[in-house]
Amino acid sequence: MSKESLAVIGGGVIGLAVARRAALDGLSVRVHRTRHLGASWVAGGMLAPHSEGWPGEERLLQLGLESLRLWHGGFLDGLPDDVVTARESLVVGVDRADAADLRTVADWLSAQGHPVAVTTTARDTEPLLAQGIRHGFIAPDELAVDNRKLVAALEAHCEQLGVRWAAPVEQLDDARDGVDTVVIANGIDAPALWPGLAVRPVKGEVLRLRWRRGCMPLPQRVVRARVHGRSVYLVPRADGVVIGATQYEHGRDTAPAVSGVRELLDDACEVMPALGEYELAECAAGLRPMTPDNMPIVGRLDGRTLVATGHGRSGFLLAPWTAEHIAAELMGARA
Ligand SMILES: Cc1cc2nc3c(=O)[nH]c(=O)nc-3n(C[C@H](O)[C@H](O)[C@H](O)COP(=O)(O)OP(=O)(O)OC[C@H]3O[C@@H](n4cnc5c(N)ncnc54)[C@H](O)[C@@H]3O)c2cc1C
Repeated sequence: MSKESLAVIGGGVIGLAVARRAALDGLSVRVHRTRHLGASWVAGGMLAPHSEGWPGEERLLQLGLESLRLWHGGFLDGLPDDVVTARESLVVGVDRADAADLRTVADWLSAQGHPVAVTTTARDTEPLLAQGIRHGFIAPDELAVDNRKLVAALEAHCEQLGVRWAAPVEQLDDARDGVDTVVIANGIDAPALWPGLAVRPVKGEVLRLRWRRGCMPLPQRVVRARVHGRSVYLVPRADGVVIGATQYEHGRDTAPAVSGVRELLDDACEVMPALGEYELAECAAGLRPMTPDNMPIVGRLDGRTLVATGHGRSGFLLAPWTAEHIAAELMGARA
């Protein structure tokens, strides 16, 4: 009897995670991909349900926590150790109002049954913080990954498992050829294949700074900060720091705008002045696939079609949960 077969449309973190999981389950898998890596190429790579959490987003918090458990519980098996670049997040507020905002989040997390460790001595934890920054909380289970290494490692693992690569498709029927099921996992372009999917692009600028000889050492954990009402994060990499991210709607524009870059540099250097000596290695912008309620769209569309898109600002965090959910759908169809 021939193996059950699957075509995945999209070779970003979501498509690759789904393809790998299906191949591990013994399916014959092909991925239709483009040369353009989409949001997965620019992302910060934080796996941060606590520090991304916000009152009103309870369901997203639950999904994020479930997915973080999967990251800790086997998603990294078969991938090189150096995809993980941090194993803790420190969230700080710069002024009084920022500190009060963080207190609101910490209280909300506590009320949800997921308390974080509140601190008033943040600089003892992260000495590179600017003087005067004291208030915040620590999320000890959060991780960060190097997004580009992770995508490359998932591709390599897929290849080892026999996943085949194929050309991008113009329409859904092009992917159906010779397979039992198709998964639409092409981020912001999903509505072009299945009209009516409520996914829209939300732009975000992100910067990459490179450590240079003579600079202060790299931070060892993710640092997120509220800076006079705005948010910035610093995510360690082997050779530097990723600074992110702005968030606004501007169609499909991926040019990094001066105002966004300036905002990020100002805020990052206010939080960690030593970064001013690093090399500014890259400015980029990407498009998050956002949905009206900020929840991903993962599930069945019809007898032969599944969808996994709309992961917004948490596609890396939610990749393991998504892969499991699609695997369960495929299993259910076989039962
Ligand atoms: C600035 C920024 C920072 C972020 N930071 C984080 C973070 O710290 N943590 C986190 O969890 N998430 C983060 N995200 C969100 C995360 O990057 C996305 O949610 C995630 O990359 C979505 O993955 P995807 O595979 O669905 O889409 P994409 O990565 O966009 O991949 C979709 C792929 O499908 C391809 N494609 C499109 N049409 C077709 C077609 N017809 N046929 C074949 N292929 C096609 C595209 O070219 C692309 O390669 C960030 C996003 C941005 C923009």
